[in-house]
Parts: sequence; structure tokens; C-alpha cells
Amino acid sequence: EDVELRKALGKYLSVSPGRIVIENGSDQLIDLVARVFLEKGDEALSVTPTFSMYQKVANFQGARFIGVPLKEDFSLDVERILAMKTAKTKLFFLCSPNNPTANQFAMEEIQSLIEELKIPVVVDEAYVEFAKYSVVRLVEKLENLIVFRTFSKAFGLAGLRLGYAVSNVDAAKALSMVQLPYNVSSLALRIGLKLLENIGVMRRAVGKLKEERDRFVKELSAINGVTAFDSQTNFVLFQTRKQSVEAFQALLSQGVLVKNLGGVLHLSNCLRTTVGLPEMNGKLLDALEQLCGEGN
Ligand code: PMP
Repeated sequence: EDVELRKALGKYLSVSPGRIVIENGSDQLIDLVARVFLEKGDEALSVTPTFSMYQKVANFQGARFIGVPLKEDFSLDVERILAMKTAKTKLFFLCSPNNPTANQFAMEEIQSLIEELKIPVVVDEAYVEFAKYSVVRLVEKLENLIVFRTFSKAFGLAGLRLGYAVSNVDAAKALSMVQLPYNVSSLALRIGLKLLENIGVMRRAVGKLKEERDRFVKELSAINGVTAFDSQTNFVLFQTRKQSVEAFQALLSQGVLVKNLGGVLHLSNCLRTTVGLPEMNGKLLDALEQLCGEGN
């Protein structure tokens, strides 16, 4: 059923289709990988802050979730991660680029983690099309690497529920084994195929978004009382001098909905916003300027 789409994805990523498993969104893959590798009493290792679903699926399995804090510059604390591995650690989750910090981790550090942890390592690349590189080709030489990708972000089709894993062939078989056959609708598979046939549409849209994102980050940071962090995704993490609850409310009252994250690592008053169209971003910039800008 999904042969055609796996072939097309294989061509798109330059990996063999036998390494690819297609499911209903990467959320389903996150759930499946936990069911394959985690049992009651096991430990799943990851970083903090990161996408909340990893903890959820680990806990569903009765496993403990351990999140190792990122360094202050949002980079990986490789030594501390390796030190946290025990005999019970069965899975490592890494979101790169990371939600909500929006940075992409260094390829060499990801690679050394995969090599030194020697347990299955999931790299969730949900936002990778907005970033600089992908680790997906590393599956050819690193047997314990499992990469998750999705049509939800760069293709803007979260409602399609289409995601895929790329790994070694045995892990691919193990993932499909815990799933019922005919799980993904053939309509979604066909739409996925069409999207890949017209990949230029996504590439152009992503190219435009990246330009707008970089401009937006600069303009956010130019506001006195706002610090925005570089982004390799389609969202931006920023910090306000005012209480983030207050910023959230002020934005909401002007029809701009962002996410109030509060504290992130050593930083207080953090918020996350999706990169929108220039008019929408402009509205957010104006509202923040009013609230936090000079003299306010
Ligand atoms: N991974 C990350 C890091 C995400 O942010 C999301 C969406 N919030 C997902 C996976 C899930 O995406 P989907 O199931 O739509 O593919």
C-alpha cells in the first residue's frame, strides 16, 4: 500500500525505501518507538526543555523520563548526558532543531552521542526543512539511529497526519510490527506522493519563510526589553523584560496568540511565536514595541 510513497521518500532523502516506515504523523512514531524499546522500570533519556510527548510516551510504558538540561547557550551537555546513562536506559530522544528553543544541535555532537550511547537514539527532525542540515543520511553508518520526519511543518499539513521514520531495516521492521496493517489512509499516502512530486512548492515556501524569520528575529531583538533567539525552525523563542504573562495578555488583546512558556533553563519570561506572514509578524512587533519598547 505505501510502497510508492516510501520509494518517493527514499529518492527525496537518498536512502533505501526499506529503511522507511510511514505512520499517522510523527506523534504516532514517537508512541510506537516507546512501545518497541521501553518497558516498565526502564529509563528514557532526553534533554530539557524539549517536546513534551517524549516524556508522555515513556510514562505510558511505565518508564522513567530523564531530561538533561541544555547548556545556557542551548547546546547539548554531551558529558552529562553520557554520565546519566545507566543499565536501565533503553532509548534516547533528541529533537533537532529543538522545540521550544528553536536551535539545531551540532552534527558532530549528535553523532558522538549516537556512537557513545550505543542504545537506540531517536532524532526527531520535525522542523528540519527550516534548518541547515539533516542527520538522516547517518542511518547508513549508525545502526542505532532512528530519524523521525513529518509533513506537518514544512508542508503545513498537520491535519494530513503523515509522518515517517528512517532507520536501519531491522528497526524499521520492529516499528511496523507493533502497528496494525492498513493504518495510514491511502488518501493521505497519495497526497504525500503528490507533495513530493511538487517538492519545489514546499522549497519555495520554506525559503520565503526563512527569510522572513531571520528578519523577524532581528526586529524582535531591536525592541528594547525584548531578546529573541536565533531560529532554525518556523517559530521563534523570545524573552521579555516585562512579565511574560503580561506580554501574553497584551498580545492576546490585540488578536495575537503566542505561547507563554515562562521559565526556560536560566531564562525567565519566555514566549514562543510561530513565524507568520509579514503583516502578522508586524502586528506582533508593534504590540511588543508598545508594551516593552523605550519609555514603556
Ligand atoms: N515532533 C515535534 C518536535 C513536534 O513539535 C511535533 C508537533 N507539535 C511533532 C513531533 C508531532 O507532529 P506530527 O504528529 O503532526 O507529525
